Amino acid sequence: MYRIIKSKISNHGLVATKNIKNDIKVIEYRGRLISKKETETNKKFDNDKHIYLFNINKKYDMDGDYKYNTARLINHSCDPNCEVTGKGTKLWISSIRDIKKGEELSYDYGFGFDENYKDFPCKCRSSNCCGYIVREGSRWRIKKKKKTN
Ligand SMILES: [Zn+2]
Repeated sequence: MYRIIKSKISNHGLVATKNIKNDIKVIEYRGRLISKKETETNKKFDNDKHIYLFNINKKYDMDGDYKYNTARLINHSCDPNCEVTGKGTKLWISSIRDIKKGEELSYDYGFGFDENYKDFPCKCRSSNCCGYIVREGSRWRIKKKKKTN
């Protein structure tokens, strides 16, 4: 359903190798289940931009920062065609619309807006791209900033 490509967005990415309908589990997001306590205390997670870390439930997070987790190569887009979905302790990258063969897979990394947003430029080239990797609900802050500057 997908293969690894050199991406125009950033380094590597995944591209659809056939047409994918909406609401399909495209790839499992694999990783190590870790306790919230470890998330809080492990230095690895000191930075607050957790590209590979997902909330599973009250007790556990999923750390997907492992080579075997092919889904970690999926890039952020401001106009994504996938989202992260979960059931129990499993995470999936699932389509949120029909995806054409050859289209790069993407989802919203969900970064909050903070003073470091400029460290994470977005090159997704979608028409609504705000220029930075910031979750959809917070992008208005950047647009506002552009106007006042
Ligand atoms: Zn973008």
